[in-house]
Amino acid sequence: MDKANAPHKLNFDTSWEYAEAPESTDHIEIKKQYGLFIAGEFVPPKKGKYFDTINPATEKVLAKVAQSDASDIDRAVKAARHAYDTHWSKMKAAERGKYIYRIARIIQERAREFAVIESLDGGKPIRESRDVDIPLAAAHFFYSAGWADKIDYAFPCRTPAPLGVAGQIIPWNFPLLMAAWKIAPALACGNTVVLKPAETTPLTALKLAEVIQDAGLPPGVVNIVTGDGATGAAIVDHGDIDKIAFTGSTDVGRVIQKALAGTEKKYTLELGGKAANIIFADAAIDQAVEGIVNAIFFNQGHVCCAGSRLLVQESVAEEVIAKLKDRMQTLIVGDPLDKNTDIGAINSAAQLERINAYLDLGKKEGAAMYQTNSKTPDKGYWCRPTLFTDVAQSHRVVREEIFGPVLAIQTFRTLDEAVTKANNTQYGLSGGVWTDKGAKIFKVGSKIRAGVIWANTFNKFDPTSPFGGYKESGVGREGGMHGLSAYLKLQ
Ligand code: NAP
Ligand code: MG
Repeated sequence: MDKANAPHKLNFDTSWEYAEAPESTDHIEIKKQYGLFIAGEFVPPKKGKYFDTINPATEKVLAKVAQSDASDIDRAVKAARHAYDTHWSKMKAAERGKYIYRIARIIQERAREFAVIESLDGGKPIRESRDVDIPLAAAHFFYSAGWADKIDYAFPCRTPAPLGVAGQIIPWNFPLLMAAWKIAPALACGNTVVLKPAETTPLTALKLAEVIQDAGLPPGVVNIVTGDGATGAAIVDHGDIDKIAFTGSTDVGRVIQKALAGTEKKYTLELGGKAANIIFADAAIDQAVEGIVNAIFFNQGHVCCAGSRLLVQESVAEEVIAKLKDRMQTLIVGDPLDKNTDIGAINSAAQLERINAYLDLGKKEGAAMYQTNSKTPDKGYWCRPTLFTDVAQSHRVVREEIFGPVLAIQTFRTLDEAVTKANNTQYGLSGGVWTDKGAKIFKVGSKIRAGVIWANTFNKFDPTSPFGGYKESGVGREGGMHGLSAYLKLQ
């Protein structure tokens, strides 16, 4: 064993504390109540019903948000159709591009406000919303804006045309970023949209509606409707929508796919995952341990492509697990607005209940559970970083998506065994491989059936790269040129 791989002993004191470094909230504005954003203005829902969105770190209500029903969706779709027919599909592509650039620039200018509201409404650490979510959301608008007037040249020998009105439904784990993934390419290709954010995280989408007003987009090009699953279903079922873009769980994706069968609607579905992160003995172990932390504890494990299964080569398993436990012990769980925080609040009471049910199940199934003893606040929804070892492929904590900071660890001896175990899942969204041999990266990368494979890194995103799943992780791709083609008829 070389020196770098020598057994590790905890050589730091974990008892000292960081001084608090909270981001201030005095520069943000959250209204008491939000209507629906239809045809360029905020309007009350027809039935006058509202629901609360709360801060999962404090359980306090942040705002009341409109609950739309099928009649509100119909209004939004009519506005989107009108905008499509009368101007957006007829406008010169370069002009469309200017509007999208404007949205990107305003998001950048208001980045701090967006980051704070994202952390308040969803529970993610401010470091992530500030450094990942908001810059990437702006990057997606910049990227699509650049394509707007080049789409005619992007698909040789084909004539691209917009689809019409897109219905878009997004989850709560990357609220603004998912809105950007959906809205930016749709607009660049000449479509208009009706977007529904998740029930627990509607605020940054509603802030985006303000940006869209400020950018001067023609009314009805973007409509934002809030509500619950029934609101999403009303979008899916609406007769005048040409395309459904859905990101969420595999279970709801299945329901949507059934509802769309036999209709003319096009669809893309970005669904769940249970990615394997494979560590070979020749990897740089310290970097790999940091990569594991990033792969599963980033955003409380509320990441569809999270590396929630660790496959570690047997000869280094003991060392990797020991180092990982030490590193986990230093992770700070708590106030999402504190810049020291590594792991914020679980998004909702319901999600925490689901995660806790899996923790109980893992123990019942006979796995060994390790959880850090990090302090957590009294109020709010929290889950300490957790590992399961002594697991078998048949265990549900190995097979099912937990969507929390919970890692299941298995070992392997050979490359073929690692690949077989990695592929032994109904999902295929992402994967990771850690080794110092380029040839091994290519070999493993070509054998794993997943949309993205990261090598010696994890959870890196870029608007130019297509993203999407194999098997039950979805249908279609978002991002890059593939993502644009999902919003076009290519004749
Ligand atoms: P979810 O329960 O499937 O909800 C996703 C969205 O669909 C929400 O806006 C939800 O509304 C709405 N919805 C619920 N029932 C519906 C129905 N019957 N018809 C139409 N829409 C409906 O998923 P989630 O719990 O919010 O998000 C976590 C899941 O998203 C995980 O499985 C994760 O892997 C997946 N995800 C995938 C990707 C990817 O790119 N592949 C990215 C991020 C997340 P309400 O919120 O109001 O219930
Ligand atoms: Mg909330």
